Amino acid sequence: MTMKKRTTTNSNVQLAPDRLVPVSLEAEAPLDCPLCPRLVAYREANDVAHPDWFNAPVPSFGDAKARLLIVGLAPGVQGANRTGRPFTGDFAGDLLYGTLLEFGFARGTYQARPDDGLTLTGAMITNAVRCVPPQNKPTPAEAKNCLGFLKARIGALPDLEIILALGRIAHDAVLSARGVKKSAATFAHGAEHDIGSGLRLFDSYHCSRYNTNTRRLTPEMFHSVFAEIRKRIDG
Ligand code: URA
Repeated sequence: MTMKKRTTTNSNVQLAPDRLVPVSLEAEAPLDCPLCPRLVAYREANDVAHPDWFNAPVPSFGDAKARLLIVGLAPGVQGANRTGRPFTGDFAGDLLYGTLLEFGFARGTYQARPDDGLTLTGAMITNAVRCVPPQNKPTPAEAKNCLGFLKARIGALPDLEIILALGRIAHDAVLSARGVKKSAATFAHGAEHDIGSGLRLFDSYHCSRYNTNTRRLTPEMFHSVFAEIRKRIDG
């Protein structure tokens, strides 16, 4: 089941169902965001071909009291771009949501639909680039255009302690959003960096189909990153 953007409750205001705290609007791109001409053209083409899909910048999803922010790359065309919730309906979402449930960052059952009732607890998921890019590849200019939303997203989470970057592009986006030099924090799976203001950045390879099929990232590798994060948050 997909959710059309104009009727969704998961649009540009995220409410944690158990807390009902609205998040800052600047942290979410407007549904008609004009910043990246190539992505606007792709979004409009998808809207013509699939008018029942979400086809808009995908808003962050999760708990406004998040202590953990997970930063993905960008919506997949038939996943988050179709359903309107990050990683939902994507191959990558099976591993990510399964892991969040296993480590106590989610409640409910993930059914790859935005109306499956799944809630995040103490965690939020966002993307470095909010619109679906052709071939899953945003350009550096597109990632830069989207930085303001990530900056605001991070700034709007008062309880945030840990950011988990899924892949190098997300890692670089977090560093840029926080004004940290790239040379101060090199991306590596399992690495952990102090990025100032009480925030720690953890890195993981992206949980994409390609990375899991090639076993660059195994479920065990992904789980061990979450085990460490859980320990820190509980610690
Ligand atoms: N879906 C998302 O929302 N983000 C990703 O990085 C991959 C799939």
